[in-house]
Amino acid sequence: MTTRLAGMLTFVLMSCAAPARADWMQRTEAIMGTRCYVELWADDPDKGNDAIDAVMAELRRIDNLMSHYKPESELSQINQYANERPVQVDKELFDLIKLSTHFSQITAGAFDITYASVGYLYDYPNHVHPTEAQIRAKLPAVNWHNLLLDEAHHSVRFEHAGMRIDLGGIGKGYAVDRGIEILKARGITRALVTAGGDSRIIGDRMGRPWLIAIRHPDNPNKVVTRIPLSDSAVSTSGDYERFFDEDGVRYHHIIDPHTGHSASKVRSATVLAPTATQTDGMSKTAFVLGPEKAIEIINRLPEYDAVFILPDGRVLYSNGLRPPAPRPASAPPAATGAGSVRP
Ligand code: ADP
Ligand code: MG
Repeated sequence: MTTRLAGMLTFVLMSCAAPARADWMQRTEAIMGTRCYVELWADDPDKGNDAIDAVMAELRRIDNLMSHYKPESELSQINQYANERPVQVDKELFDLIKLSTHFSQITAGAFDITYASVGYLYDYPNHVHPTEAQIRAKLPAVNWHNLLLDEAHHSVRFEHAGMRIDLGGIGKGYAVDRGIEILKARGITRALVTAGGDSRIIGDRMGRPWLIAIRHPDNPNKVVTRIPLSDSAVSTSGDYERFFDEDGVRYHHIIDPHTGHSASKVRSATVLAPTATQTDGMSKTAFVLGPEKAIEIINRLPEYDAVFILPDGRVLYSNGLRPPAPRPASAPPAATGAGSVRP
């Protein structure tokens, strides 16, 4: 009897114990030289915490593989030896380098990881930029066609002297996608993962979309427009992220592979697509090719949309984001839907 009572009591206590509370959870960490942020809806705080731990660990792992700051990283090994011989690397790194050449192809060479052959001459925190003579000497080494990729051995070789590669333009997007895969595998259905300017969302915020703000290029506190998003990735590249000004010229971290100079045809470019690897890879295009050419490319690719802020302050939207044309007064009322977005 006593035992049964005790048993029942345990049962009652267990069922009264604070139930695991479903809630939004978030965490910020500094990884990959930037702010990384995870927010998710968890039905159990322990599971939520474990999931965030796993994403942060994945971001650190990818940083170790791809950082050019770390001499022991596989990427640094390529830069050190690929001028002399093929350098065999992890399949994961090889595949991302190969994918980078796909983005070079679809952006008419605006995205080019060999930009680093000149790019490494810039040191933004210390206000250092190369001279014209230095750029001229290194520019022939910027050309993704001179990357020899051996699929069978996962090896990379440079076909031109003085080449270097850098994955800063796609690595964070890739890391965000890996983070999202980890969350999905753990059954998380509502989350946001951000690394610097690259984010991806799964699900929504309880029936409402996330609202992604695009900031004013000269004022971090001013929002130019907001885009409602769910189940999508978004990347913003801006000339205000890593830069210094000298004699009226802004030296910033997006480099035109054709000139070796900072690319200044837009102030910021925001790209939407299903994955963050895609949005990261595409977000440099308008800087290098100019907004008209970039919008033309984006409008041809059904998975992509974009918003560009031009040097004169105008905002340019790709077709999928353009507000619907004004309706004639006599037209019947339009059905509401999530198809178009009004800024
Ligand atoms: P974030 O690093 O915040 O994600 P972006 O997505 O705008 O910023 O990427 C900028 C980075 O892309 C630069 O810091 C550099 O590493 C790399 N990069 C610069 N120019 C090019 C280019 N033309 N092609 C590919 N990558 C580039
Ligand atoms: Mg990026």
